[in-house]
Amino acid sequence: MEAADFYNTREWAAFRAEALQRAGYQCEAEPTHDLDGEPVRCRATHRLHVHHDHGVPLSEQDGMALCVDHHAEFHRWLREAEAVAA
Ligand SMILES: [Zn+2]
Ligand SMILES: [Zn+2]
Repeated sequence: MEAADFYNTREWAAFRAEALQRAGYQCEAEPTHDLDGEPVRCRATHRLHVHHDHGVPLSEQDGMALCVDHHAEFHRWLREAEAVAA
């Protein structure tokens, strides 16, 4: 199945809705820290994406709600991690 087709399936729609609900409809990116060392959470509530590893059955993946910016950052980080491992 083409990835684009997959994102039109009911399976994905249900998985995505569940992941967003679990996240409380907020970005779940790891907190960063301000100058005082206090954790700063993103908590963006709009333009949320649900990340999952392509090719892994949805039942085995949790899915993570990430705002558009953190999703892009997460994929950059994944690519870098892969480059280091290779
Ligand atoms: Zn992703
Ligand atoms: Zn975010």
